[in-house]
Amino acid sequence: MPKLIDVHTHVHFAAYDTDRDMVIKRALEKGIWLINVGTQKNTSQNAVELAHKYEGVWASIGLHPIHTEKSYHDSKELGSSSAGNEANGFISREESFDYDFYKKLATDPKVVAIGECGLDYYRLTEETKHRQAEVFVKQIELSSDIKKPLMIHCREAFHDLVDILNANRSRLNTGNPGVIHFFSGTLDDAAHLMDMGFSFSFGGVVTFARAYEKLVKGLPLERIVLETDAPYVTPQSHRGERNESLFVEEVAQKISRIMDKDFEEVAAQTTENAVKIFGLK
Ligand SMILES: [Zn+2]
Repeated sequence: MPKLIDVHTHVHFAAYDTDRDMVIKRALEKGIWLINVGTQKNTSQNAVELAHKYEGVWASIGLHPIHTEKSYHDSKELGSSSAGNEANGFISREESFDYDFYKKLATDPKVVAIGECGLDYYRLTEETKHRQAEVFVKQIELSSDIKKPLMIHCREAFHDLVDILNANRSRLNTGNPGVIHFFSGTLDDAAHLMDMGFSFSFGGVVTFARAYEKLVKGLPLERIVLETDAPYVTPQSHRGERNESLFVEEVAQKISRIMDKDFEEVAAQTTENAVKIFGLK
């Protein structure tokens, strides 16, 4: 068993184009396993290809809510030359959910979850809201179809998230529906989601945003897993630098302080949780 598992990272993104192999090995050598999470067709495909090159590296595949609309582009994710990326024929800035494409990719044994999928109301238009819901429900269906858990992204949309999940409750994988990544809801939202069987992942934000302390303290350790969301959300001691899976240890340390538990207990329990949820071996 690994010491720690970073259940949500993006080392397949453009931010690591010059040193990806070193970044992955730095984590693996410290006993840290990782799940690279796709956000659209090309980043999902890349996550799967990368997972096949290393033991201890897995993939999650899906369509992120912000990629269901046209305007979004992040150079850390997709590279700075958007013209070049478009030329390779895979980048879509307004992707509709291609069920057959994702289903085929999802059957790969290195794929351990569907997502990131969900709702993001940070930059919202009413039209986007409908499209996000529609694409999310298709990924709930896929998760049920292939019996792999959901990797959910939710920003400023917990009320609708709970409603959509409740309406699709019969399709959620019994006992193991998945993880809400970068959980930023309330303890009340968490109660609804736990009732459906979901767990929650926390990353670097807990090391610098005190608002998360009450939230983490209010959740059972059996429902918590660790993440970095790298290259984003770098923990406190590396602020200003690019984030990477190695830094997940600082997240575990902070959670152990917040919960007043030993680091070893937090490391072992979150690892056991992640192994169970994602079926890692
Ligand atoms: Zn992410």
